[in-house]
Amino acid sequence: MSRYKAAKYVFAAIAFLMVCSIPAILIHWAMASLNVDSMVDTIITVILFIAGIIGGFVSIRFIPNIKGRLGEARVNRILNRMANKYGGRLIYDVIVPGEDGKTSQIDHILVCTHGLFVVETKNYAGRIYGNGKQHDWTQVLAYGRVKNKLYNPLMQNYTHIRRLKELLPEWAKPIGAVVFVRGNVGYIDAEGVYSLRGLKRVINDAAETLSESRVTVLADAIQHYKDNPMTTSKEHVKSIKDAGKKLKSGICPRCGGELVLRISKNDGSKFWGCSNYPKCTFHTKDLEK
Ligand SMILES: [Zn+2]
Repeated sequence: MSRYKAAKYVFAAIAFLMVCSIPAILIHWAMASLNVDSMVDTIITVILFIAGIIGGFVSIRFIPNIKGRLGEARVNRILNRMANKYGGRLIYDVIVPGEDGKTSQIDHILVCTHGLFVVETKNYAGRIYGNGKQHDWTQVLAYGRVKNKLYNPLMQNYTHIRRLKELLPEWAKPIGAVVFVRGNVGYIDAEGVYSLRGLKRVINDAAETLSESRVTVLADAIQHYKDNPMTTSKEHVKSIKDAGKKLKSGICPRCGGELVLRISKNDGSKFWGCSNYPKCTFHTKDLEK
C-alpha cells in the first residue's frame, strides 16, 4: 500500500469517528451545562458514542442502496416528464421475443417527437470501467479489493434494440441509452452511456424526428407487444410494420378504418380522425407525406 493510500484511509477513519461521535459530544455538552451527575453523564455519553459508530456503519452499508433505488425512481420521473414535454408516451417492462424462443425485457421505452428511446437502467455501485468494444466491463468495489465482470450493457441494449426493430416499421429508428443511476460513468469510455443528467440532456437535445402520428403509431404498437407478449402473430407484426404506408393512404393504423378530415370543436383546427369514432379514438394532425 502506498503512503498516499494509507494516509487516505487514516483520514477517512478519523473523519468517520468524528461524524459518529457528534451526537455523544452534543449530549455530553448539554449534560455538563445542566450539571448532570458525572456517572450518568459518562454512561450516556459512552452509549451514544457506541450507537453513533453502529449507526455510521449501517449508513455506509445501506445509503448506497437507498441512493440506487431513488436513482431508479428518478429515471422514471425524468422519462415521464420528457413524455409530457415532447408529446409522447413511456412504456415500461416490454417483453420482446428473441432467438430460440428466448425473451428479453426492455426496462423503459420512451416514444416522443424527439425520438424512440430504448433505456436500460443500471444500479451498479463502485467504479465501472469499460468501453464500447469490450464484451465485459469491470466493476471495482471496496477501494480496489473486489473486481467483478459485467456483461457490456451497451451490447445487451443493442440486442433489445435489434429485436424491437424487427417488430416496428422501418422508419422507427430506436436510440439506445444506458443510464447509470448512481452517476458512476466517469471511467466508461463509450457513447450511449449516461448519468441521470446526461439522459435528460440527450433527450432534450435530440432533433424532432417523429411526427405526432408516428409517435402514436409506435406507442400503440409497443403497447400492443407489452400487452400480448409472445402471442403476437406474424400478420400483426406485418400490419404494424406497414403502419406508415396505411397512414399515407388515409387508413387508420389502429383499426383499419378510414381517416377523415375533421375540425376541432375546441380551436377550429383541422385534424384527421378515424371514421370508427368513438369506438376508435385514433387521431392525428398530419398524414405522412
Ligand atoms: Zn381507427
